[in-house]
Amino acid sequence: MKHEYSTKLWQEASKLFPGGVNSPVRAFRGVGGTPFFTARAHGCRLWDVDGNEYIDYVGSWGPMILGHAHPKIVRAVQEAARNGTSFGTPNPNEIRLARLVCEAYPSIQKLRFVNSGTEATMSAIRLARGFTKRNKIVKFDGCYHGHADSLLVKAGSGGATFDVPDSAGVPADFARNTLTLTLNDIAGLKRVNWSEIACAIIEPVPGNMGLIPLTIEFLQTLRQVIHDSGALLVLDEVMCGFRVAKGGAQELYGITGDLTTLGKIIGGGLPVGAFGGRAEIMDCLAPTGAVYQAGTLSGNPLAMAAGIATLEELFKPGNYEKLEQLSATLCDELKKIVPGYHTRVGSKFCTFFTDVPVVDYATAKTSDTKKFGRYFHAMLENGVYLAPSQFEVGFMSLAHTGADIEATLRAAREAVKAL
Ligand SMILES: *Cc1c(COP(=O)(O)O)cnc(C)c1O
Repeated sequence: MKHEYSTKLWQEASKLFPGGVNSPVRAFRGVGGTPFFTARAHGCRLWDVDGNEYIDYVGSWGPMILGHAHPKIVRAVQEAARNGTSFGTPNPNEIRLARLVCEAYPSIQKLRFVNSGTEATMSAIRLARGFTKRNKIVKFDGCYHGHADSLLVKAGSGGATFDVPDSAGVPADFARNTLTLTLNDIAGLKRVNWSEIACAIIEPVPGNMGLIPLTIEFLQTLRQVIHDSGALLVLDEVMCGFRVAKGGAQELYGITGDLTTLGKIIGGGLPVGAFGGRAEIMDCLAPTGAVYQAGTLSGNPLAMAAGIATLEELFKPGNYEKLEQLSATLCDELKKIVPGYHTRVGSKFCTFFTDVPVVDYATAKTSDTKKFGRYFHAMLENGVYLAPSQFEVGFMSLAHTGADIEATLRAAREAVKAL
């Protein structure tokens, strides 16, 4: 493969953007080398500016569950744009998208649209604090909930990739109000004095330190200990929402969030997030309540149109079964080819380069990241684009076919030779 044009653009980008990028994990620092620049994307494929073609398992980090440039989404956005790109007044599409969300998530009676997952979780935390009149929150080691100050404590994703567990610039006073617990550790849940906690926030299908499935017992115990205390459970389904099932982790595991945060898929590749839950909690938001939250572009008509087109297409019968089947086929075969610890929940999957069963952040970090880097680059050279970090996950889309999976497995057979 040739990378001349990408290399040239990288030199220019490095002068303009810190680290050459507008979001850290794009910089390939977890695997070495420099990223390619994408010219276009279609279905499950990306083409870079030098004309190289890749089968894509990143899907813009989760949103592109229908594949890239899906004709229904493209048409919906074009039609919406013709009528204006932002109004700053209510628009009918906000209601249509909200109905689709509430249909999938019975725990969401009312919601608010925002522009990113970060905004959703940041606002949900503020709301939980305002509703309970308590300050302390609980999060879990390695879970990433966007980059709001109080949530950048032992967070995964870029933090895990670069081994910076806490961000500079977050005052210790903020971090003091964030308690961190270990995933899958039931005893740890029982040591917390929940009566002083506003909320616990968790990724019910943790996917920002690689993919770590939680046990049902752990999730049920968490729900139970919180329930009796007046604290709220915030289920961060920004990544797993609409992906592991139509009703996300809440449908998959039969648990209910007091508040739920959504993002990624809900915008079909445009910037959308949402948070929602019981009406009595949501009504504490301005203008009905005292918790302030706002957004110039929130409920943006283009973004709403893309979200509606995505969910309507995704909810068609058979699609979740198809995603499950494609993902199972790929992962069952990968397991036989690539040595390591493999995890999968629905269409999210991960290979940890370790022999230890991965059940929490500490065991995830036993992975040989140098080896992962070699695997990543060998896959890329063979036309398969995986997330450029051990501590991220793979995403299957409905645009992948049996032939794409075959091609991926052929690439993996080549790639393991480089390990
Ligand atoms: C991606 C992600 C976020 C942040 O969403 P952004 O749109 O990147 O701000 C929050 N929580 C989880 C679980 C995520 O995966």
